[in-house]
Amino acid sequence: MAFCQVIVDIAHEDVDRVFTYRVPQGMKLCPGMRVHVPFGRQHRIEGVVVGMTEDCDLPESRVRDVSDTLEDYPAVLPALLELAKDIKATSFCTLAQALRLMIPAQMRGERIREKTKEMAVLTVDPAVRGQVIASQARAPKRAAILKLLVNSENGELSCEELRAQLGDYRTALQALVKMGFARIEKREVMRSPYGAMERLAQADPELTAQQKEVLSSLLPAMDAGEGAFLLYGVTGSGKTEVFIRAVRHAAQQGKTAIVLVPEIALTPQMVMWFRSRFGEDAAVLHSRLSPGERYDEWRRIRRGDVRVVIGARSAIFAPLENIGLIIIDEEHEASYVADNTPRYDARELAKMRCAREGAVLLLASATPSMRSFALSGRGDLTLLEMPRRVKNRPLPDVHVIDMRQELAQGNRSVFSGAMLDGLKRCMDAGKQAILFVNRRGYATFVSCRSCGYVVNCSQCDVSMTYHSTEGILRCHYCGQEQNVPSVCPECASKYIKYFGTGTQRVEEEVRRFFPDVPVLRMDNDTTRAKDAHEHLIAQFRRGEARILVGTQMIAKGLDFPNVTMVGIIAADAMLNLPDYRSAERTFQLLTQVAGRAGRADTPGEVYLQTYDPEHYAIETASRQDYRAFYETEMHRRRRALYPPYTLIARLLYEADREQDASREAESAMRQMEAFLERRSYLRKYVISLRVMPCPVKRIKGKFRWQVTLKIVDKLVCQEAVGKMSEIALTPLEGCVCVCQVNPGSMM
Ligand code: ADP
Ligand code: ZN
Ligand code: ZN
Repeated sequence: MAFCQVIVDIAHEDVDRVFTYRVPQGMKLCPGMRVHVPFGRQHRIEGVVVGMTEDCDLPESRVRDVSDTLEDYPAVLPALLELAKDIKATSFCTLAQALRLMIPAQMRGERIREKTKEMAVLTVDPAVRGQVIASQARAPKRAAILKLLVNSENGELSCEELRAQLGDYRTALQALVKMGFARIEKREVMRSPYGAMERLAQADPELTAQQKEVLSSLLPAMDAGEGAFLLYGVTGSGKTEVFIRAVRHAAQQGKTAIVLVPEIALTPQMVMWFRSRFGEDAAVLHSRLSPGERYDEWRRIRRGDVRVVIGARSAIFAPLENIGLIIIDEEHEASYVADNTPRYDARELAKMRCAREGAVLLLASATPSMRSFALSGRGDLTLLEMPRRVKNRPLPDVHVIDMRQELAQGNRSVFSGAMLDGLKRCMDAGKQAILFVNRRGYATFVSCRSCGYVVNCSQCDVSMTYHSTEGILRCHYCGQEQNVPSVCPECASKYIKYFGTGTQRVEEEVRRFFPDVPVLRMDNDTTRAKDAHEHLIAQFRRGEARILVGTQMIAKGLDFPNVTMVGIIAADAMLNLPDYRSAERTFQLLTQVAGRAGRADTPGEVYLQTYDPEHYAIETASRQDYRAFYETEMHRRRRALYPPYTLIARLLYEADREQDASREAESAMRQMEAFLERRSYLRKYVISLRVMPCPVKRIKGKFRWQVTLKIVDKLVCQEAVGKMSEIALTPLEGCVCVCQVNPGSMM
């Protein structure tokens, strides 16, 4: 008798274990296959087989049969089953939740179908074709169908095509089928997401010395099947070409590769590069795919039809077998960490996949994350460097412009005099320019336009956030509140304002100063339509516009050879967000944006406008000096006890009634206190443990309370975070709870 162990697709702690079912006679099952099973009073629910056994401890009568299988192959590969278990262990979720990551959402609940088309296929021997056509001379439709089929490439045409050519063809075709001259076949079609894509040159460039050197470390590691690297390469150093060669090496070894890029950098351009070099061997997974396209790409991957998968965070779950290489480009990006349950970090999962499947890990960035650079210092990652741009092109010249002085001189425009001059020179030279407007942090903090003073929390070293509904300032870390000052406490200026300038305003100003220059704007408003993003980029590349005004979405990955000038309207907009990473994010963003200039043969110029030119993030970014930034920032993090030295974990409770949220939060607080009481060895690492209403007390009608834990980042301390995650899994009445670790926002 054969039995199987099934994880049912219910994300509830109470059923977070395997259930045993009998395998009916003749059913072929193996681990990773999806099945329907009866469960409790439910007649039929989905589950994943995670193990097979010959015998079973339960009495025969209590074991039920598997109803049927959803596919005739394992949808979850063995290595991904193991990865799901890792996720359960490290993200403290149920195995059912972890397994959901492994299959496209559309496959669950059978919400999607394979797309098929009908084909008319000729079944007549070539030798007698003429005769057969002649025999139908009195039935012109039939003869016409036969002629079309005979002249087609493989003696077949889609019924759609027949209809287009002949109008009503059906009766005639059915007659031909009856006579044995043709048959109708249903065939699966793959939806292709690569419709109207530009094609680029496919030839390989000669590698630069730096690229060769990096590959000379990477490729032998791939041959050995182990190694983890951090590639720190300045913008324009040619990292993409390194990726392409390494991926090709994997293919030559008979292996496969995953290339992760941040969603925002997953530009059509990036997709096009890989498609033009790897053709059908590349699959792409990104959020602009329709559910059908996503499902078809997934199946192409699962069937082993592709060599390389390029995708955003969740592509780490691509069902590739025989992986030789996982690349994570722009590894510093926050988007590699999932914010919903299960909360996973794609970089950590990549490390686990590589170790288990004998693959090499390559993290790459022009501005590596604090954590990865620190790991490379300790030898956990091998550091590879590309300090120079391709062809020794210079890094762009960065002009830092002090906007306080502009104001002092009476300039209230969004452009400084210097930036305007730079833009004029660029237009006169017939080149293109990018103007970058930072939308994050728009109008959320208060600063002085005269001296740059920012209202900060006295306790937390972060800026206070302006709450327009109540008209007050509040600290998002500790909850402290104060009124908006009417004059600057530093210099007594009355120009103390909410900060921020939108893309529309910048576009208007450009049109005012350059009425004859065509301008494009790229932001959330102009890219809402499907493919709008692609179209705007293609338009700009073709030179149909000379100036591109945009947000974060133009900061990364784009390579426009004709762009020689980049203007950053307000470099410090993000600096004062209530987030301990705001300096790091600012440095990264400025470096990336500046890196868009001067990527071809004319050197680039960057104009960076700021109210805070002495800030170390701005100052080091203007020199593109990553190491200097890293040193200063690490020092600050150590002093202020921020990650990577500490972990900040919080339990967030949301409820319709405030008393439900506060009651549960306070109960969680007591559980945590009791837990730490028992684990006395953890106590010395705890910096703070607090329960309080969230800084933003109500969002979308829900009242919010939180328990926050700040603890030294040591392995043993994971236990405390684990306890919090466990608390978060407890089912609650009238209240929802999530556990977050180092959350991007503490609001
Ligand atoms: P990064 O990702 O490091 O910012 P890219 O990979 O976009 O840099 O490369 C910058 C530019 O240099 C691109 O236009 C790319 O086509 C070009 N490039 C890269 N490698 C070479 C090479 N070996 N020879 C000539 N051009 C190259
Ligand atoms: Zn001031
Ligand atoms: Zn505070």
